[in-house]
Amino acid sequence: MAERLIISISGMRGVVGENLTSTVATEYGSAFGTFLKAQAGGEDNKTSVVMGRDSRPSGQMLASAIAAGLCAVGVDVVDLGIVTTPGVAVMVKDTKCEGGIIITASHNPIQYNGIKLLLGNGGALPSDVAEKVKRAFLEKRFGFVDSRGCGQVITNNLTDDTHIDRVLSIVDREAISAKQFKVVVDSVNGAGGRVTQKLLSRLGCKVTAINDAPTGLFAHQPEPTVDNVTELCDVVESEQADIGFAQDPDADRLAIVDETGKYIGEEYTLALAAKYILSKRPGKVATNLSTSRIVDDIAKAADNEVIRTPVGEANVAAAMLENDCVIGGEGNGGVIDLRVSPVRDSLVGIALVLQLMAETGKKVSQLVGEIGGYYMVKEKFEADEAEAQRILDLAKKRLTDARVDTRDGCRFDFEDGWVHLRASNTEPVIRAIVESKDERIVQKYIDIILKIRNEVLG
Ligand code: MG
Repeated sequence: MAERLIISISGMRGVVGENLTSTVATEYGSAFGTFLKAQAGGEDNKTSVVMGRDSRPSGQMLASAIAAGLCAVGVDVVDLGIVTTPGVAVMVKDTKCEGGIIITASHNPIQYNGIKLLLGNGGALPSDVAEKVKRAFLEKRFGFVDSRGCGQVITNNLTDDTHIDRVLSIVDREAISAKQFKVVVDSVNGAGGRVTQKLLSRLGCKVTAINDAPTGLFAHQPEPTVDNVTELCDVVESEQADIGFAQDPDADRLAIVDETGKYIGEEYTLALAAKYILSKRPGKVATNLSTSRIVDDIAKAADNEVIRTPVGEANVAAAMLENDCVIGGEGNGGVIDLRVSPVRDSLVGIALVLQLMAETGKKVSQLVGEIGGYYMVKEKFEADEAEAQRILDLAKKRLTDARVDTRDGCRFDFEDGWVHLRASNTEPVIRAIVESKDERIVQKYIDIILKIRNEVLG
């Protein structure tokens, strides 16, 4: 079955050559450009967009197509080349452009690509704005200009250095450099290799880089989950490194391997970063409803509060701005520090975790041991929109002794654990996340969810 092109709050994602073609990309560029020009008010206003792409072989084709669509509606394009998603977010603000575009399908396999949109503040589009751009694209409402009004494309290669300077400004470079950490980094042949090695060198680390060539020919499945980063674990162990870092292809997500070569789980990325930040700057933490209670424990120990939001970095970033949060992010290894940008940033995660190690003098395994753990199981099963709704409705009837949050699917909070059920907005699946300190409790809730699924899907 051919998959459909998915247009969501986070942008557009599809299979190159099937539903994500040059025509689609050009029209999406024109729709976004038309929206930005209207927002800037009047046709005479200069409007510019920074555009970067991850390393996928289809990136150049899509970049050319999107640039054509933007220029056709009178928007100038600053082409950043192959850069990370957080790098583009930093550059939107630094260049004072009205918008940003990232060509990436994040952790999806090579046949996919996608187009993510950012506003002038470097943040993802709020849902009402995303809806406006989607409508303009679907209804083909483009404000084409005449020959003299067409936009121009210029290139800019300052992203890495600008981004690194911003990240270094939030940590103590001398303190980290003094430790001369041995670090292994796996960039999965994505966009993160070059900039991450440069950052680590400036932090005085001895770096071993694997899968660092930005070919887009991913050396392993690109999501930085436990099964996919075994090579990194082996190299950390054989090199006797202090820590291993795994990025996804656009380098907004970060997973960590401890000094014994053990994968510690993406949930600890935000936890460790929050632990460091809260030791220095008291304040609130924002994270989504799918993220571990580890973050609540860390915030509570520091007498601070956690604000929960629907899934999606735009929601987390909005809550951070609204509540003056000192740190935020998502449990899938995404750390946001607004001093750098309002998007998830693996470089921020790397710098904050190294700072925590430098200041405490502790190994990663010790830091993780102190935080303590939960058992978390993530399941996903195919379900269309109607089926997903029926599963949620039935779950609400069955799980009656919980505190229920329905802002994004359903999160059921019990004394002994929690369950979050939500339909994905990028795939026709429903995700179930269950967490507890007790493995048997996790299994109990999983069994309940599977029973509900079987009743609905047969
Ligand atoms: Mg990503």
